[in-house]
Amino acid sequence: MTRITVAKGDGIGPEIMDATLKIIMAAGAQIEIDEIAVGEKVYLAGNNNGIAADSWDTIRTNKVFLKAPITTPQGGGYKSLNVTTRKFLGLYSNVRPCMSLYPFVETKHHEMDIVIIRENEEDLYGGIEHQQTDEVVQCLKLISRPGCEKIIRYAFEYAKVYGRKKVTCFTKDNIMKQTDGLFHKVFDEIALEYPEIENEHWIIDIGAAKMADTPEIFDVIVTLNLYGDVISDIAAQIAGSVGLAGSANIGEECAMFEAIHGSAPRRAGQNMANPSGLLQGAIMMLNHIGQTEVAEKVQNAWLKTIEDGIHTYDIFKEGVSKEKVGTSEFADAVVKNLGHEPSVLKPVKFVKDAVLNLPKYVKKPAMNKQLVGVDLFVDWRGTDPNELAEKLQSINTENKHLTMITNRGIKVWPNGFSETFCTDHWRCRYEHNEGKTLYKNNIITLLAKALDAKIDVVKTENLYEFDGKAAYSLGQGQ
Ligand code: NAD
Repeated sequence: MTRITVAKGDGIGPEIMDATLKIIMAAGAQIEIDEIAVGEKVYLAGNNNGIAADSWDTIRTNKVFLKAPITTPQGGGYKSLNVTTRKFLGLYSNVRPCMSLYPFVETKHHEMDIVIIRENEEDLYGGIEHQQTDEVVQCLKLISRPGCEKIIRYAFEYAKVYGRKKVTCFTKDNIMKQTDGLFHKVFDEIALEYPEIENEHWIIDIGAAKMADTPEIFDVIVTLNLYGDVISDIAAQIAGSVGLAGSANIGEECAMFEAIHGSAPRRAGQNMANPSGLLQGAIMMLNHIGQTEVAEKVQNAWLKTIEDGIHTYDIFKEGVSKEKVGTSEFADAVVKNLGHEPSVLKPVKFVKDAVLNLPKYVKKPAMNKQLVGVDLFVDWRGTDPNELAEKLQSINTENKHLTMITNRGIKVWPNGFSETFCTDHWRCRYEHNEGKTLYKNNIITLLAKALDAKIDVVKTENLYEFDGKAAYSLGQGQ
């Protein structure tokens, strides 16, 4: 018997959760349930995260959380419960299988069977944003080596344990050489440990286009948080419907399972919604807690129900579907099919006692880190970079000097183009003079000089070499 936490959420949440629990209990799931409240009412009662403090204790004690969709109230101040839960509980891996149920569910893709493994904690989702000048705001994209190693190892282990043949990595490292570059580099390193699994890398733009066009050429896809967010919805939609997909959020200690869609408030309380997405989440949960046979029984009964043409409104199609049913009738049909297998669609056989070998991250020996310069980000309303350069050169010191100015990344000094459009946000790079060592207090001196010269520095970024290799981007055009 496994104790799990359940939240019925908002909108269609309670109906699809009741249907899901009815099906898995009828199939013999050995679970005990602690129910907690999350979502709209909790937000409106003054909890900005949509969950009460004591509910965290229940989730952390049980470690397995089945969650229905919630409604995030409109207006300021409310934080996404999903993002908070993933980060608080360290749920670094978001696993979303997307498969075609053709010819029973309309789709252009008859052969599609992919699993998207999305990094769930890092990237632009840190919510670290600042306005720096009148014209420019920034969002920090943070990528860590532990984060990359954990998610990429998860993808290869997943492929190994579940008999998948290939892992594809999507990044944009032709542009983001440091951040996406690290993800790609770690992918290449870890791939070497799995010679039996094919591996490949695609630039995300053409990769995503290929996935939308010919998904059958992909198997497991691993990617960064933002790209994964976008492509996993595309994958679910082109497989047939976002209403059919579930997802697992897996961490070292805890895990959360859910449907990928939202609370569909317009359909709430009408016994119309398709419970399949949440049911897919629950099936992943049953596998996660080792109740493989129950998971298999539910999945096969569900496939048979879809194959029988018993469909909710969202996938109902004249000529293919046989009967349009509501949420609870669909659940009853799946219960009736427990113990049966589909005959056209492939029955599933889940791997028993699947254990992914995911060692905890061990910190690497410290690298040799050498300060070699600093970028000053300056708020300046002028338009001629040569004028700014003159001001900045006046504060050169004996061990460093101005080497470059960029505006939105493109080099505008020295030898900029007069055509380049410039905002009020300038990155001004100082590099150490040949043979001179740079220390942090030299930067403080530079900042003090900038202050005296009425240069408005809004941020600094130190330039380092790690083990003798420059670890910062050049200016575009440099
Ligand atoms: P949605 O996913 O709720 O609905 C989009 C469309 O899909 C609607 O037309 C809806 O009728 C249909 N749909 C969704 N699930 C369905 C199902 N199971 N059966 C049949 N049809 C279904 O997206 P939305 O309308 O943009 O968002 C509604 C609310 O859900 C918002 O408050 C949003 O913040 C929230 N949301 C929550 C989660 C979550 O809790 N994980 C995820 C996404 C959105």
